[in-house]
Amino acid sequence: MKDGYGREINYIRISLTDRCNLRCVYCMPDGVQLLPREEILRESEILRIAQAAAALGIRHVKVTGGEPLVRRCCRNVIRGLKQIPGIETVTLTTNGILLQERLADLKESGIDGINISLDTTDPDLYRDLTGGGDVAIVTDAIRSCADSGIRTKINAVAMSLENEPLLEFARDLPVDVRFIEIMPIGYGKQFKPVDNRRILQAIREKHPDMVPEETARGYGPAVYYRIPGYRGAVGFISAIHGKFCGTCNRVRLTSMGYLKTCLCYEDGTDLRRILRDAALSEEEKDRILQEAMREAILKKPEAHCFDEPQSITENHLMASIGG
Ligand code: SAM
Ligand code: SF4
Repeated sequence: MKDGYGREINYIRISLTDRCNLRCVYCMPDGVQLLPREEILRESEILRIAQAAAALGIRHVKVTGGEPLVRRCCRNVIRGLKQIPGIETVTLTTNGILLQERLADLKESGIDGINISLDTTDPDLYRDLTGGGDVAIVTDAIRSCADSGIRTKINAVAMSLENEPLLEFARDLPVDVRFIEIMPIGYGKQFKPVDNRRILQAIREKHPDMVPEETARGYGPAVYYRIPGYRGAVGFISAIHGKFCGTCNRVRLTSMGYLKTCLCYEDGTDLRRILRDAALSEEEKDRILQEAMREAILKKPEAHCFDEPQSITENHLMASIGG
């Protein structure tokens, strides 16, 4: 469906959990407050919301978190999402730590793509950035994922202009590398974003033969380039220095069932309240769920306000929102 500004909203990010097995400095360096299990949406509730979303025109789903693979039902959720009429693609964003052991299951679930977060290939820096992570586990998982035939992308929050080793790592793999500008959400506020235009310039200086990629490579805001000799493309997701709100196509569902319509604001609607309202019949729940989503989407804010930090009303961590 279209929002109040005429943008086609066809993409939802669904957070399965706020919990994570890493402690990234810009995300949740001290972990998160553990929520009682009943606060979190059950598998059946997630699928029910996704069904309502599909009826409203959502076609693409990203399963995220926290770390989605720490939740055991992840594979079942993906399998269930794949069966919802109207849903065309279901993809996953993970830090990759548990990916190797879940890969066969994920492949079997019919997953359409996996994005793996990897900001650096330097073992010491990775350990510092992630609060103790072992980069070899992640790089091995990326190779296995690409080998398995699942469409694989690397997401790197750019912490410096030194990104050549990451590109070199991916050079012979059928894997896109995308640089993400850090956003002032949660602990991200403590970091000055590295301007993606400077990263592009640094890569171009090293690879003057780099050319823009003409064909679309996903359903998000990344702008892609090709470097001859590299199997994958290089992408840039520039929320700060390349504001793309005019073409924003997404909403977000938190693990507690709150539908968020923009990263920057608390705006949205509590869907869990509807699902758990004992006074409603099952048919009423589905109808009210859809109405509430429609209403929230119609009120989706026009643009983020990261350039005016005093206007940001979102106080949750990125792990609660799902990135
Ligand atoms: N744990 C999974 C992962 O790391 O891919 C999924 C959740 S994580 C919140 C999703 C993405 O958001 C990751 O690529 C992460 O690097 C990114 N992220 C976290 N905090 C961010 C921030 N303040 N600005 C930009 N990206 C951020
Ligand atoms: Fe965990 Fe992902 Fe946040 Fe890192 S970015 S702490 S891996 S949720």
